[in-house]
Amino acid sequence: MIQMVDLKRQYGSLKIEIDAAIQDVLDKTSFILGENVSSLESEIAAYHNISHAIGVGNGTDALLLALKGCGIGPGDEVITTPFTFIATAEVIAQLQAIPVFVDIRPDTFNIDPGKIEEKITERTRAIIPVHLFGHPADMDPIVTIAERHGLKIIEDCAQAFGAEYRGRKVGTFGDCACFSFFPSKNLACYGDGGMVVTKNADAATTIRMLRNHGSKVRYYHSILGYNSRLDEIQAAIIRVKLKRIDEFNESRRRNADLYRAHIRRDDLTLPSEDRDCRHVYHQFTLRSKKRDSLAHALKEKGISSAIYYPVPLHRQEVFATLMSGASDLGESETSASEVLSLPMFPELLEEEIHRISDVINNVS
Ligand SMILES: *Cc1c(COP(=O)(O)O)cnc(C)c1O
Repeated sequence: MIQMVDLKRQYGSLKIEIDAAIQDVLDKTSFILGENVSSLESEIAAYHNISHAIGVGNGTDALLLALKGCGIGPGDEVITTPFTFIATAEVIAQLQAIPVFVDIRPDTFNIDPGKIEEKITERTRAIIPVHLFGHPADMDPIVTIAERHGLKIIEDCAQAFGAEYRGRKVGTFGDCACFSFFPSKNLACYGDGGMVVTKNADAATTIRMLRNHGSKVRYYHSILGYNSRLDEIQAAIIRVKLKRIDEFNESRRRNADLYRAHIRRDDLTLPSEDRDCRHVYHQFTLRSKKRDSLAHALKEKGISSAIYYPVPLHRQEVFATLMSGASDLGESETSASEVLSLPMFPELLEEEIHRISDVINNVS
């Protein structure tokens, strides 16, 4: 049996350190906004060479609070991709703002900067590029467009901790950037967790208040907030893994190279990496018109695979009212019908990649 992500292997290799980190929190009995959260915030800010990082309850809340911190509200239009996890657009709609979908590039699955400007109106306030599957979105043209039209950029980095675009870490291009530490992400905890990073001191102050009931001083509440703090135990776990994140991402890249070396079929497309980008392969996602037969053959041999994502967001029932503007999202629709993600995690063995590739090569 080969799983998409085998979390037991990583825990096995870090057990002594992680158990000690958890025990330390238990011994100190400081469970909410303690020293691990503030240390992790400093460490993640330093990793990105950026001034502010704010630990929050999960990646979805990171996006929600970042949008609020950037002043997005009812009636505002926010441009994003329909080929992403629901959370990216869900938070826009939660704020009674309007998600406006722009189609993707078929090679990287990320928002196509060439198609953004035609969707900008006088109500557009922000763009949320998603660095999907660990491949950076094409940030230079996105930043140029945002500057030209006075738009905020909120980067969705939930799948791309440590990825780089032209020598710079993703998460440092926008007004705010959002990370998720959901257990299957490439930097992950053992429950829910998230983080916002920003170079904007005002946004940082607002987000810090929003996560803690709109308060700076306990029991004094100046804005309407939420209860969305990063948990101290989760922060302690993430700190152990943060020390190894570059190593983990390097192993993912090695595994991607091994897949490329072993999969030999000219009727499918393996993931590509833009020049000057460092893909961190949160997912290894191929395209094939035969993806259902590939998935079936893998399953027969006890190998997991997954479809991220089977339904683009403009086709989701919850967004049915947005369908009218969705006639030009063809690349997202084709991708949804062709993608297949293979097992990918740092501890995946070369021998397993051989086995997976052999099954794929032998499907007729
Ligand atoms: C996982 C994910 C999120 C949401 O993160 P949670 O921590 O699960 O709330 C948002 N956007 C993308 C692209 C994701 O993959």
